[in-house]
Parts: sequence; C-alpha cells; structure tokens
Amino acid sequence: MSKADTLTVISTKRDGGVLGRDEIEHIIAGATDGSIPDYQLSAFLMAAFIQGLNAQETADLTSAMAGSGERLDLSSLPRPWVDKHSTGGIGDKTTLVTLPILRACGLTVVKMSGRGLGITGGTIDKLESVPGFRTDLSPEEMVAQASKIGIALTGQTPKLAPADKKLYSLRNSTSTVASIPLIVASILSKKIAGGAETIVLDVKCGSGAFMRDLSEATSLADALESTAKLLGVRCIARITDMEQPLGTSVGNALEVQEAIATLKGEAGRFRELCIGLSGSALAACGITASQSEGEAMASETLISGRALDCARQWFTAQGAQDGVFDDEAWMPRAGAVGDVRAEQSGQVSVINARQVGEIVLDLGAGKKKQDDVIDHSVGVVLQVQVGAKVAAGDTIATIYARTESDLAAAQPRLQQAVAIGSDPAPERPIFLR
Ligand code: URA
Repeated sequence: MSKADTLTVISTKRDGGVLGRDEIEHIIAGATDGSIPDYQLSAFLMAAFIQGLNAQETADLTSAMAGSGERLDLSSLPRPWVDKHSTGGIGDKTTLVTLPILRACGLTVVKMSGRGLGITGGTIDKLESVPGFRTDLSPEEMVAQASKIGIALTGQTPKLAPADKKLYSLRNSTSTVASIPLIVASILSKKIAGGAETIVLDVKCGSGAFMRDLSEATSLADALESTAKLLGVRCIARITDMEQPLGTSVGNALEVQEAIATLKGEAGRFRELCIGLSGSALAACGITASQSEGEAMASETLISGRALDCARQWFTAQGAQDGVFDDEAWMPRAGAVGDVRAEQSGQVSVINARQVGEIVLDLGAGKKKQDDVIDHSVGVVLQVQVGAKVAAGDTIATIYARTESDLAAAQPRLQQAVAIGSDPAPERPIFLR
C-alpha cells in the first residue's frame, strides 16, 4: 500500500469511521517492517484511542498483531493447554503458584510473561531474583521442556507478536496505553502467538491497577472475552481486587519467597486467588464439571504437596540453583531493614496498593527509566491485612531497602499508606467477578 493509503486509514479512524481488515493489516505490517514511520503509527494510535475500535476491528487488530511474527507450535504437546495472564498489580506473584497447581492437575502450561510496567511488578523480574533461573527460553526450548515436565515459562521474545512490542512502546510515550481495544489486542495477540487455546485472565481492579473501578474493569473483561471468542479462543476473564496489595510481600525476591510459602501450605487471600483462578482454568478446559470442583482439585494439589513437587521440577528444569525451596540462603540481602509501627490502636481500614507500589518502585524493585538496574532484594512485607486489629506500637510492615536513607524515606510514606480507623473495615472480596 502507498503512503496515501496510510493517511486514509488514519483519517478514516480520526473521523470515527470503521476500518476494514485489510486497512488494519496494512498498519500492522508497516509497524512490523518499519515502513510506516512512528509519527503515523502514533497518529493511528491516538485516533483509535479517541474514536475506539468496534468488536470486529479489535479482533482484526488482535489477529494481525498475533500474525506479525512467529507462532509457537504446541501441537506435539498433550492437551489441554492453558495460559494465564494478569493485567498487572502490586504483589502479584500468582503465576508462580498457579502454574504448578495447573500442572499438578494434568494441564500443559506454556506461558510468556512480562516485566514490570510502571508501579506494577512483572513475573520475569521476580524470577530473575532466583540464582540461575533462566527466563530466556527459545520457542524450541519451551516446547521441549513442556513436553518433558508439562510446564514452561519464558520472557517475551522479539519473535512473537513483534508488532505489539513496537506499538506498546509508542503507546507508552504517546499517552495511549489506557484504551480498552488497544489493551485487548496487546494482551490477546501475545497469547495467541504463544499458541494458547484456553486463557484465564485476571483483570485487576483498584488503586494499584490500570482499571481503577469495577465498571472499567468489567468493560475490559467483557472485551477480552468477546474478542477471544471471535478469534476462536476459550477465555475466562475474572476480575480481582487490587485496592490493597496481593498477599503480604511486594518486591521481587520477597514475592518468590511468599509464593514458595504458599506452595508449602500458607493460607490467606493470595492462596484464595490462586485456587479461584485455577478452578476457572480447570472448568474452562473441561477437566472438572464446575468452578467449585476445580477449586477443590486445585486445593488438593497444595495440601498433598503435588503442586510444590511440580514447582521444584519447573525451577530445576529452568536452571534454578538447588535449595531454593528448602531455606532462604538464596535470597539477596537488602542493606537496610526496618519496621513501620502503628501510630494508634484500631482496625486497618486501607492499605493503598498504589502507594505501596510507588514506595517499592522507589526502593529500586522496578525500573523508572529504561536503563535503571532492578534491585531484587528490596521491598515491603506487610505484617497486617485490611481488617486486622492493631494496638499502637505494633509492627504493621517491614521495609527492605538498599540504604539507611532509603529506609528512612520509605517509613513515613508506608505509614501513610496504611490507614487505621476505629470502625470495622468493610469486607472486600478478592474475586469481584
Ligand atoms: N498488558 C499488556 O500486555 N498490554 C497492555 O496494553 C496492557 C497490559
């Protein structure tokens, strides 16, 4: 297509028109081979952001992006195959527990995970805190490992859905990230390129997520499910709470440690989330007749230790050093550790996920600039959850910082992020849908 055609696509969308499949494919081909310059791609993205894309346009965009590079061929692996994805949150280490549970239930789990984005953490950053753990498996290594142990995870490779990589970085620098059709195409294109047949999506909702309220999160979840259906992929989009951080730990190595404790039987909201998502995956794949049977099966793998065995096998297969599951000697040590104490007695009414995410990012757990180096040792361990009764002087959190001055800067901010009131906190379930 000529440059004039690119202009026509942009102006059609700018004026609120509907794009045909060939027009969308033209944009994606140009984004992938570099023949459409960034300024025109940015104009297209802004037009799509403002005017929106209808269901068919969103499906066409997803399918064109999924086809912009290689596709993982899982056909040699035993079915059912399942993939799981979260839209991103604070303290979200769900993949580390859910993948072994699903494997222990007999599913083949092949997954591409991302790095942290803004204040939200990324599974790849968390796993890179484990000495030796490889996050750069090639497509061939992924399939070989999944065929041997039924579970494989890698970081995003430039070979799969390269158009998403290009468009995502332009969206980041043109304020066009928070668009439902663009988020849908970005997430689903990577899953489809990764060979997914069944996808369980965890759409996060609350102060620590892209989608701050339930109506936005519901629109995103509905759009993900309907686009996947148009493309012939089974998809369940759950909506889960991200008003408070997930579980007790936020920060890379600390979160891996919490995931290991959960695999070993630790209870709490985080475990409940892993069991609920696993139940959805098992029911969607037809392994169980219902969500509740799926949850019971998932729960049994934690009680029996079978999920822990699968996690050990998985970590070993990807090169993790021995002993990670047996003691804490592997964990990188933070330079300065200190507590935050309750200033008054009462009941914890809020733990602001966004503020905790910002504090942990400032401690060095994520990147603010492209060339920042992640410190895997830093983070926060919450000693209380919303609803807990505390007395003045009780420890409410522990901070792991690089330096004493980082620690001193984080302490009052964390104290502010945890509100203590006199009234009982309203119950907020972990699953909102
Ligand atoms: N995660 C993605 O992969 N893409 C988006 O656009 C948003 C979250």
